[in-house]
Amino acid sequence: MSFLRESDAIFVRNLFKKFYHERSGELFIPNRLSEREFGYFPFGDKMMVRHLSFSSSKELRDLVSQKTPLHIYHSAALYKYPRAPMEEKGWIGAELIFDIDADHLKTPCKKGHDFKICKKCLTEYPVEFDYCTECGGQLEKVEWVCEKCLESARNEARKLLDILEGDFGFGEIHLAFSGNRGYHVVVKDREILDLGQSQRKEIVDYIVGTGLDARVLGLDGRKMDLSYAPELGDPGWRGRIARSALEILMTLDAEALHELTGDKRAYQVVEELKSIDKGWSEKPPWNLLRRSTRMFLIEAAKEYAASHIDVVVTQDVHRLIRLGNSLNGKTGLMAKVFDPDDLDNFDPTRNPVALPMDEEIHVRVIRSNELRLAGFELPSKRKEILELPLAVAALLLCRGVATLP
Ligand SMILES: [Zn+2]
Ligand SMILES: [Zn+2]
Repeated sequence: MSFLRESDAIFVRNLFKKFYHERSGELFIPNRLSEREFGYFPFGDKMMVRHLSFSSSKELRDLVSQKTPLHIYHSAALYKYPRAPMEEKGWIGAELIFDIDADHLKTPCKKGHDFKICKKCLTEYPVEFDYCTECGGQLEKVEWVCEKCLESARNEARKLLDILEGDFGFGEIHLAFSGNRGYHVVVKDREILDLGQSQRKEIVDYIVGTGLDARVLGLDGRKMDLSYAPELGDPGWRGRIARSALEILMTLDAEALHELTGDKRAYQVVEELKSIDKGWSEKPPWNLLRRSTRMFLIEAAKEYAASHIDVVVTQDVHRLIRLGNSLNGKTGLMAKVFDPDDLDNFDPTRNPVALPMDEEIHVRVIRSNELRLAGFELPSKRKEILELPLAVAALLLCRGVATLP
């Protein structure tokens, strides 16, 4: 979903223009700049302008100030001839990139906050509707982002960083908020630059726990020996499975377990787990569980511990990623780059706010769920003209849920 009307896009474009005019110095300039391909979407155009390259940061900043992109991206790949057509670029290597997007996560809040809009009648509908009952036109979906979505994206990023640093030992890790509902992680260590697609797939498989099986973990067999079972302090996935299984056993929340696994057996498994002897603490009592329950618990622990990345992005060695500290045209928020050590303190409702909060403007809100931006709180609203800080108004205009009155 994008702007409801052209006048809304023009208004937001002017805000972006002013921002880039004053603050293009904050753009994050990737290293080996001249070897990267750049591309951007202009406002009001569905075609990406791509195969661009820049020999200096000034050239890049000048383009951003002059063209005011809605979205701007660069390649994680390095090329001999970044301006050439794809097959003639001369691929040198690519950083290892990860995309975490709340849209791909099983957040239960989605059901409550996504809705649809008829752009013509400016009416909102529940997500189950496909056509407008007034004009018969096709409805467009609004994927809302709430603080629960943002928090689950952060949790996935946390698990990913733990695997990348702890298991792989990568040292040069770059982290950015996407400016919408997720995080981007880029590994820049030299060793990974020339990995091909299949090697990247193996890294992905490790991160999501593909092929992790009970036998390898010492948890298979009808009569299993607890002394081979994973210990809490074991390195890699063994420790991860032990810790996650213990966490699940300590809480025994059937609802949460169902949500995590998407498997209705969760309720029955929780009943069974409640009935087993509580005389354990260090290790989950794998040997006391029926084999099917054990397998269920392993799968659940894997889901709990894996980082839910977009697997396609990481395997693609030509992928473009959003330019750090540029504005995201879906929100008007900044794709803020920050230190991975600050992930826990990062406030996605405050730190990426780039447009002014100290000026206000009237907008006609079709529907907005509750939202918080730089301390400003907007309760849930429907069909109302409101005077809002520019950054809040821009967010609603970009999402296509409000229009200029
Ligand atoms: Zn309509
Ligand atoms: Zn949500």
